[in-house]
Amino acid sequence: MAKINQNYQKLSAGYLFPEIARRTNLFLNENPGVQVMRLGIGDTTEPIVPSVIDGLHKGVDDLGAVDSYSGYGPSEGIGSLRQGIAEFYNENGASIDASEVFVSDGAKSDSANIQGIFSEDCVVAVQDPAYPVYVDSNVIAGRTGLSDENGYKGLVYMPCTEENGFFPELPKGKVDLIYLCSPNNPTGAVATKEQLKTFVDYAREHKAIILFDSAYCSFITDPALPKSIYEIEGASECAIELNSFSKTAGFTGVRLAWTIVPKACVAEDARAGVLHSLWTRRQNTFFNGASNIVQSGGLAVLSKEGRVQTGNQVAFYLENASIINEGLKGKGITTYGGGNAPYVWLKTPNDLSSWEFFDKLLNECHVVGTPGSGFGPAGEGFFRLSAFGHRENVEAAVSSIANNLEI
Ligand SMILES: *Cc1c(COP(=O)(O)O)cnc(C)c1O
Repeated sequence: MAKINQNYQKLSAGYLFPEIARRTNLFLNENPGVQVMRLGIGDTTEPIVPSVIDGLHKGVDDLGAVDSYSGYGPSEGIGSLRQGIAEFYNENGASIDASEVFVSDGAKSDSANIQGIFSEDCVVAVQDPAYPVYVDSNVIAGRTGLSDENGYKGLVYMPCTEENGFFPELPKGKVDLIYLCSPNNPTGAVATKEQLKTFVDYAREHKAIILFDSAYCSFITDPALPKSIYEIEGASECAIELNSFSKTAGFTGVRLAWTIVPKACVAEDARAGVLHSLWTRRQNTFFNGASNIVQSGGLAVLSKEGRVQTGNQVAFYLENASIINEGLKGKGITTYGGGNAPYVWLKTPNDLSSWEFFDKLLNECHVVGTPGSGFGPAGEGFFRLSAFGHRENVEAAVSSIANNLEI
């Protein structure tokens, strides 16, 4: 008799995005003909830049000639791309070797899978609010109990609040795996070097591992802010970094990402090199490599021209964020994020709950956003607006908020 993984039953019902869709559809049924404007989704909207399209085309053309055809590549990624990614890090003062770069088809899947090389009894700490996959992958792996309104039992929540500038204090007790995301989805907050240093020091002292998600690093405009945790001294002993071409290059549908596991990384029962070899083994066993066409596109993203063109596109999204920020501030709403991230995190006016504000924004302004409480208990009373969108849609949504939101 087959039995299921009972941990799936603990998951709190995939509540957020289905519930957004349900309420939006209900509104549309009751208000036929009304156009809703969506600032809810963390997905890119602008076409891939020409130099990267050329790189993707080259990947296709290579497959059509006998001399350049390739089949399976190394599951860790093609050498030139691993080298290019390592160099990208080292330009900012890190010291990453190409052999420490593992190319993949997504940072979401990597961030779900990475916990698999760690012991089941590791205590896990997450920022609250957080990108849901960090929590859910550990629930499925059996590292938590059941959930209630305070979150999952056994999981250590590190609240990110207005008071701490949306970067958490160190966990009180000893934890083993620490998920950090900077620039943060959903709050848009970016950790400073000093803030990351406190976590790196903690991790080295406790032989804990930081799982650092830098999927939005290309949105950092302030040169003082670190784009990678490896800009912090000692981080290569205690941090694994996940990153992706998704948001930087509009690759959300194309699929290309990477994880860095430094050879220097150590755990309580793993000397230098062991975590690196476990992730190598994991990828070799479960994964046959990212698409060769797509990796050719990735090389083009890293080229000089690719960086300029994708940089302009990121700047375009950041301008959207600033349009959203200005519009909300004009209404007297307190906002965070947006300057170095494609998300604006707003405090709901008049102490409305996140879902009350969702309904208000939908009914009065016809704008759909994402309730902060869907990202964790500390997200209650906050709301995420995404800066991914065509300019005219963003402007229409902002002017509808300016004209119609009753505060
Ligand atoms: C979008 C996003 C990613 C990227 O995931 P992919 O699977 O590479 O598309 C990773 N982390 C966070 C926090 C994100 O929002």
